Amino acid sequence: MTPQIQKQAEQLENAAPFEILSWASETYGDKLAIVTSFQVTGIVTLHMMQRIAPPTPVLTLDTGLLFPETYDLMDKLEARFNLDLRRIKPRQTPAQQARDYGDRLWERNPDRCCHIRKTIPLRDALAGFDAWITGLRRDQSPNRAATPVVSRDARNGSIKIAPFANWTEDAIWRYIHNHDLPYNRLHNFGYPSIGCWTCTKAAREDEDPRSGRWAQHGKTECGIHFPLPEAVPSDVRV
Ligand code: SF4
Repeated sequence: MTPQIQKQAEQLENAAPFEILSWASETYGDKLAIVTSFQVTGIVTLHMMQRIAPPTPVLTLDTGLLFPETYDLMDKLEARFNLDLRRIKPRQTPAQQARDYGDRLWERNPDRCCHIRKTIPLRDALAGFDAWITGLRRDQSPNRAATPVVSRDARNGSIKIAPFANWTEDAIWRYIHNHDLPYNRLHNFGYPSIGCWTCTKAAREDEDPRSGRWAQHGKTECGIHFPLPEAVPSDVRV
């Protein structure tokens, strides 16, 4: 991060998301991408960016294992906002992965599965960009409580921007309802955070919003934001 960006990053720590998104667009132009899995924060991001820089590319990690409701939402938002939506797929289909690593890898080694289906594809997709926008928020989990608004993403060699780091779940939902934005129907059935159908369960209201993700493994992150505790073995052929 250059000293100038570092200084601006400090000034943006308490700025409003619209201001942060505007800065991101002015600073990085066509080298900026939005990365979203169509959680509610991502939808608010897409809505605000319609007023700032609608052509900004939108990258989503299509693992091939998403819920039908997620694919429906993706199609709906792509049409409504005329998005430049890029569905980033892993190099292997689920069947090819099963052939090489065994069936249901996500049950035996979800870190490796996420590495193959999310981390590596995102790294490849971000190669042409200098900065990316994420929907990370500090209230989502203890892991995310110190999320900076602007940071250096060493693994992907870029700048990561979390415009909604300071927003709460309630504020996001108010925005969604005030603007009558579509959202994943599974949120109405107790799923606060939605990933692959293979690794997502509903969560109780008194639980951490991300507790339904990889619930049987004590894992709460896929690895695209935080390095996984155990290095992925070098035999991963991706
Ligand atoms: S969320 Fe589950 S199925 Fe999806 S990539 Fe990660 S481990 Fe694999």
